[in-house]
Amino acid sequence: MKIELANRIRNLPPYLFAEVDRLKGEQIKKGVDVIDLGVGDPDQPTPRFIIEELQKRSEDPANHQYPSYSGMNLFREAVARWMQKRFDVKLDPTSEIVSLIGSKEGISNIPYAFVNPGDVVLIPSPGYPPYTSGTLFCSGEPYSLPLKRENGFLPDLKAIPEEVAVRSKILHIKYQNNPTAAVATNEFFKQVVDFAKKYKIIVASDAAYSEIYFDEKEKPKSFLETPGAMEVGIEFHSLSKTFNMTGWRIGWACGHPEIIAGLGKVKTNVDSGVFHPIQYAGMIALEKGDEAMREIRQLYKTRHTLFVQGLKKIGFDVASAQATFYVWVAVPKGETSKTFAVKLLEKAGIVVTPGNGFGDGGEGYIRFSLTKEEARLKEALDRLKKFLG
Ligand SMILES: *Cc1c(COP(=O)(O)O)cnc(C)c1O
Repeated sequence: MKIELANRIRNLPPYLFAEVDRLKGEQIKKGVDVIDLGVGDPDQPTPRFIIEELQKRSEDPANHQYPSYSGMNLFREAVARWMQKRFDVKLDPTSEIVSLIGSKEGISNIPYAFVNPGDVVLIPSPGYPPYTSGTLFCSGEPYSLPLKRENGFLPDLKAIPEEVAVRSKILHIKYQNNPTAAVATNEFFKQVVDFAKKYKIIVASDAAYSEIYFDEKEKPKSFLETPGAMEVGIEFHSLSKTFNMTGWRIGWACGHPEIIAGLGKVKTNVDSGVFHPIQYAGMIALEKGDEAMREIRQLYKTRHTLFVQGLKKIGFDVASAQATFYVWVAVPKGETSKTFAVKLLEKAGIVVTPGNGFGDGGEGYIRFSLTKEEARLKEALDRLKKFLG
């Protein structure tokens, strides 16, 4: 029997990192000591007190049964307290918060609740792949919003044609941004609220990197702090990057109750919630995690200062490095994202992510991920210096 893929899978854009993966495999086979600064996955372990909570709670048989669909009340109450303490955003735990199996799950599921075939979804480019695949799975039409350096890597909402805006159902935004490492301004968030109200568009804000910043005195804001934001949007949060918990799969969406209800309805049909011991562990992380968060931030800050200064000294054009653990670098004249990424791999044994892998708007850039020990980052800088010199 010939197995045929459905169109929705067959028509997905090609996996642009496949070529880099293949070349990386070749280098490793040749015995090259490859430094992988490509993947955005924290290298450090989850803090001990979170692991211990999981161990303890997993011993209780009551926690072995199906979890509650939208999250334990205790978990959602802990989220509400944290959102209030960290952002001054007030949320009702039962109607304005839903737990997620990682924020990627909610981001890919949200179009199922609100996008009809032919509706437009506004997606930043470079962007996070599930913004596009989730849209295509619902037969929606992705419309790219280029993130340009001259605009501080913020989308230009005024450049969206009227006929596109009126057909749009969802606007994805994500700050602190992956891959551009840019931050949003209050002014931009205000424009987003006005735009969304005018065209009745749901704002889906992705705040996965909200806790990865470098200045303790200037904590990034939540989109939901913007006046009027709760009337138009929801925000996705994740414990993945904040607490080195990418493998645990836990996050939440919060905001407008009807949007949360729509997402929740999709979820009751496709999944059965988050394992309770993981929710307990997430609660402890939010309640007792301030010190751990500060340590994780400090680690990235040290790496960040070292690496960004090093790159600049060698002559790289660092386009943006304001938050997150990424550094967004413009490729030299005459190169493309891909040609330069391939050269770095073949000549210096360093894996980076070519910017166009995140969409056309990322062409001309590469992304370094600082998810390796300081010594490896220093080694990478030495190799980069030799490579350029
Ligand atoms: C890592 C990341 C997430 C978080 O994904 P989880 O599913 O919560 O692990 C969300 N958005 C972006 C842009 C990310 O890079």
